Amino acid sequence: MEFKNTREFAQNLDANDPLAKYKEEFIFPKVNNKEVIYFTGNSLGLQPKLAKKYVDEVMTDWANLAVEGHFYADKPWWDYHERFSEKLAKVVGAKSHEIAVMNTLTVNLHLLMVSFYRPTKKRFKIICEEKAFPSDQYMIASQVKFHGLDPKKAIVEVKKREGENCFRTEDILAVIKEVGEECALVLIGGVNYYSGQVLDMKTITHAGHEAGAIVGWDLAHAAGNIELKLHEWDVDFAAWCSYKYMNSGPGNASGCYINEKYHGLNNIPRFEGWWGHNKERRFLMEPEFQPEPDANAWQISNAPILAMAPYLASLEMFDEVGMPALIEKRNRIVAYLEFILEDIDKGVEGTTFEIITPANQDERGTQLSVFLHGEGKELFNYLMKNGVITDWREPNVIRLAPAPFYCSYEDMYDFGQILKKGLRSH
Ligand SMILES: *Cc1c(COP(=O)(O)O)cnc(C)c1O
Repeated sequence: MEFKNTREFAQNLDANDPLAKYKEEFIFPKVNNKEVIYFTGNSLGLQPKLAKKYVDEVMTDWANLAVEGHFYADKPWWDYHERFSEKLAKVVGAKSHEIAVMNTLTVNLHLLMVSFYRPTKKRFKIICEEKAFPSDQYMIASQVKFHGLDPKKAIVEVKKREGENCFRTEDILAVIKEVGEECALVLIGGVNYYSGQVLDMKTITHAGHEAGAIVGWDLAHAAGNIELKLHEWDVDFAAWCSYKYMNSGPGNASGCYINEKYHGLNNIPRFEGWWGHNKERRFLMEPEFQPEPDANAWQISNAPILAMAPYLASLEMFDEVGMPALIEKRNRIVAYLEFILEDIDKGVEGTTFEIITPANQDERGTQLSVFLHGEGKELFNYLMKNGVITDWREPNVIRLAPAPFYCSYEDMYDFGQILKKGLRSH
């Protein structure tokens, strides 16, 4: 499609956008009395209006029913977490019994590593990406040390090539091959938080298995953003947070995927608690643990219903719209944003905006990471002051994620106009 950097053109795209009406379903912060242009749905998604209703329902049930709410609330609490399984399974391409919603992301990755990182004398290495999200780095290093191993010997980082911004699949495959029989686990971010690059999870998972390793994915920046086929790709395990693209609210519950081949095993190492116990017998308070037959065997504590209520509201919206429609709009709005950036760049001397996210739509999701040449943090501060909410990553990168659920094409046009005025060369 030929794009134009005009308000009329952007408005026309909005008029033909089947998802345009969903903008109304979210609450936007205001700057200078105007709703912001929100580019940080990759960090904290906006609040869906439905979220408050779901929280209020729990508050009301708690007030009216107290402990009886476990069984007699409109959405009973004792199996509230199961309401997520089927809908989340569609978002990540899993079977519904492979899904568990619980805890928070880093906590879940730790718990999953208890089951899936079982180093032996010979096979003890973990392959991850260089400069992984800090929490993942701390998590992996502490797990390795917990097993009495030296992170310097046990962690192998896949590196980007000199002067390049993204990982090459061939380089990841080469590292997996090289580590070979020593590789216990491959654990990488499916979408890189810094560059927005989408990794070839299918190919990498297959290669990890060829080497005899377990393969897990951190899907913090992938869930609700890109198409996932976790079951089909035969991924062993994965986890994601829900407050980024999935709009569930700050610090909210994480989702996990655990491949069905690990369900119902008696000898799998796992940290256990009563919410993972056979639910029909949970309240009989028996001494011996009887795991749920599915991913919920990994549940530990009773679910934080108040926190999960907004996640459920948001998930129902995802279910209504479906990932294919979100992805279709995502591809177009990201391409439009890219065009706007290029168009403004043409009007200034030299290159100001270097998009470090892959240009290929199959290798990126909603986020464009833009390296600013000849501009600095003042530009970011200026954007924030003028109602463009974005984020800054050292040394000189802003990340722009126009979430297809609530960003409009006109937002992209308006952003371009504001940006133009903020450039040094202006
Ligand atoms: C956002 C993010 C996290 C955050 O972890 P929490 O445990 O939810 O605080 C972890 N890993 C990656 C890759 C992320 O993008």
